[in-house]
Amino acid sequence: MRLSRETIETHPKRAFKIAVSSRDAFTMVVARLEHAGVVGLGEASPSKRVTGEDATSVGHFLDWAAKEVEPLGPDELLGFLDHVHDDICGNPTARCALDLAVHDLLGKLRGVPARALYDLPAARIESSMTVSLDEPDVMAAEARGYVEAGHRALKLKLGEARSASEGRDASGRVTTARDVERVRAVRDAVGAGVRLRVDANTGWTGAGDVALTRALADLGVELVEQPVPPADVRGLAAFARESALPVYADEAVLDAFDVERLHQAGFRGGVNLKLMKAGGLRPAVRAARRAKELGYGVQLGCNVETSIGISGAAQLLALLDHADLDGNALLRDDPFVGARLERGWIESPRASGLGVAPRFP
Ligand SMILES: [Mg+2]
Repeated sequence: MRLSRETIETHPKRAFKIAVSSRDAFTMVVARLEHAGVVGLGEASPSKRVTGEDATSVGHFLDWAAKEVEPLGPDELLGFLDHVHDDICGNPTARCALDLAVHDLLGKLRGVPARALYDLPAARIESSMTVSLDEPDVMAAEARGYVEAGHRALKLKLGEARSASEGRDASGRVTTARDVERVRAVRDAVGAGVRLRVDANTGWTGAGDVALTRALADLGVELVEQPVPPADVRGLAAFARESALPVYADEAVLDAFDVERLHQAGFRGGVNLKLMKAGGLRPAVRAARRAKELGYGVQLGCNVETSIGISGAAQLLALLDHADLDGNALLRDDPFVGARLERGWIESPRASGLGVAPRFP
C-alpha cells in the first residue's frame, strides 16, 4: 500500500469574498493511495480559520499516515481509518484526504460506489450556488448570471468584515444594515422564484442582529448560516430562539462531537457539515445520522474544493435536507472531473469509488 501526496494551487473564476476573507487562489493537497495498480484519490482543501490547518500541516499528517498504511492490506484500511478518526485529535482536513483516498480505493477494488459502504442510495438534489460578499449591485449582477445559467437556489455571503474599520458605527459595533440592501438587490434582480439562503460567516454581532432576520424573512430568505462567532454556542442557541429564520450552525460544528455539544447547549435548527471539517466520509456520515436523530436539518457544504472533494460529498446526498456543493463549480482550473452542479442540481456518481478522475490522465 503506497500513499503519496501532491500540493496543487487552483484559482476561482472570480475572487471569493466572505465576511472574514477574500481569496483569489487556493492550495489543496491531493492524496494518492495505490494498491495493486489501483489508485484512490483524496483531497484536503484546508481552511486555517476553521480548523487551524494548512497545506504544510496536512503534508506532515499524510507523511505519517504513509508509513502507517505501508504494511496494510485493503481489508485493514477501514480499521485504520477508525483508529485515525477516533484516536487522533484535530487535523480533520488532513484526515479527510486520507479518508477519501481510502474510500475511493476500496470502492474501486470492490467495484461499487463509495456510498455503498454506508448503504446509501444514489440521490439527486438541488444545490445552492454561492454569491460572494460585495456591493449590492455587484451581488445582484453575479446572482443574475447564475440564474441565467439555470441555478434556482443561491447562497448569499453577508456580514461585514469584523476586522475592518469600515462597516462599524461610532461605538465600534459592526453594522449590518447593508445586508438587507444586498438581499433586496438580489431579490429584485432574480425575482420571486429563486430560493435564497444567507451566510453571515460569523460576521454578525449577535442578539442585536436578530431583527435583520425579520427583514430577510420578508424577502423570502430560507435560512441563515452561522450569524455569531463559532465559540459562542450559547449565543447561537439564543439567536436561533429569537430568529425569524431557521439558523444553521457552520463554523460552530465540525463533527458528531460538536453536534452533541450544540444540542446540549439548547441550540435548535440545522447544521452545515463539510467533509473538510468532519474528517471525510466516515465521520461525516456519523455526524449527519446523529444530527438527524436529534431533529436537526442537515446541509452538506464544502470549501472551495476540486472534483475529488465534491465527488466525495456527492456520495452522501441521500442523507441531506439541503446541499451547498458548488466548490468545484467556482474553480476555473479544476484538475479533476467528477460530480458537478448541472443547472443547479448535483447527482451521486454511479462509477465505482468516488467517481472522480484526473482531467488530463
Ligand atoms: Mg457557511
